[in-house]
Amino acid sequence: MKILVIGGGGREHALVWKLKQCARVEKIWCAPGNGGIAADAECVNVDAGDVAALVALAEKFAPDLTVVGPELPLVNGISDAFSQRNWPIVGPSREAAQLEGSKIFSKEFLLRHKIPTAKMYGAYDSPQDAYAALNTVDYPLVIKADGLCAGKGVVLADNAAAARQFIESVMEKDELGPGGRRVLLEETLQGDELSFIILTDGERYAPMVPTRDHKRIFEGNRGPNTGGMGAYSSDELLPADLRDTVISTIVEPTLTGLAKDGIPYQGFLYIGLMLTKDGPRVLEFNCRLGDPEAQAIVARMDFDLPEVLADIAARRLDPAKLRWKRGASVCVVLTSGGYPGKFVTGKRIEGLTSIPANTGVEVFQAGTRLDRDSLVTSGGRVLGVTAAGDSLEAALSSAYQAAEKIHFDGMHYRKDIGAHASCVKAAED
Ligand code: AMP
Repeated sequence: MKILVIGGGGREHALVWKLKQCARVEKIWCAPGNGGIAADAECVNVDAGDVAALVALAEKFAPDLTVVGPELPLVNGISDAFSQRNWPIVGPSREAAQLEGSKIFSKEFLLRHKIPTAKMYGAYDSPQDAYAALNTVDYPLVIKADGLCAGKGVVLADNAAAARQFIESVMEKDELGPGGRRVLLEETLQGDELSFIILTDGERYAPMVPTRDHKRIFEGNRGPNTGGMGAYSSDELLPADLRDTVISTIVEPTLTGLAKDGIPYQGFLYIGLMLTKDGPRVLEFNCRLGDPEAQAIVARMDFDLPEVLADIAARRLDPAKLRWKRGASVCVVLTSGGYPGKFVTGKRIEGLTSIPANTGVEVFQAGTRLDRDSLVTSGGRVLGVTAAGDSLEAALSSAYQAAEKIHFDGMHYRKDIGAHASCVKAAED
């Protein structure tokens, strides 16, 4: 089996690592890949958002399966382009990817199918109409830019002045580009967040293990938002009754709704939930695995990933094939100093070889590149130290011990990944 993986972050490194474990996989290409993926796959310097170039690449390599990591190629229609040519691919069509590509499309879908979500105050394509609405809403208010905005498109505004400022920056000053020209105003929900990701062929589905990520740069959820500073997975995140509620009120109505609307969906569907006191509510859909949730999920996979993904591409998922390691897993992200603001790259990464192999710890690489024989930093999120264990405490201890062995100038990481779960547990004890 020959596989093409699209993307070049920690999520794609984790996927490549898992795919490679299957003896039937003889070749993996990764476009564009990164310094760490280069050890496990042949990296090809093609931009992940460039559908025409990726089609040309697949024409040349003729992979048996293509797996798409990030949202951009999906929103740009890669799945349609491959499906038209009968090339097996895992990832939803351009239309289905609108669940992530347009917050307004996604909210209208949720409301149309009566799937629990935050109340919408309105969707606006003129800034004047959006300003006028600011007198009629409750605060804090959530404002969402409609399109893809590299994680910067959602703000929680405490008052009308802050809301006005964001609307002006995205709708009038175009600071987030075309994705910010329409906005959605919605109610703020309170509670704990949970990532519930499923793999579906449009008809059947299989849930991944539940995960939670940590978005803020500093401990205690302080400081600006990032692409994700870490994630953990543990079955305790999702008790059986909550899982049943999520499935019956959210997952199944979503799949039925997509079918009713004539939008077949195949691939990973990420459902971002807020666990409110009135029950789970959908915050967002993503049309792919999260990063760093993927690293924590892959660490608990106990099944043949290439086989299951080939089944998805062929629309014949057998959910019974997905098996999971008991216990927990965690991914601690190591970032460049200054991220998510300005940071310097090209710093030499040391200590990776001192982490023993086969101990349940894997370091997935994100912002790295090879500079002759040295591995150096090339992005904000540099490495994801990932560990599985019998318990969350065991996984955390392995990951943090490994993180301490790694060094690059300015390296930063949060020491409280998974802490919320420990707090809840401590309170119950
Ligand atoms: P989204 O891209 O829609 O998930 O938004 C990104 C983040 O904003 C979510 O992970 C939440 O932390 C937060 N968020 C989005 N919508 C709401 C909401 N209605 N209430 C509270 N927080 C929200």
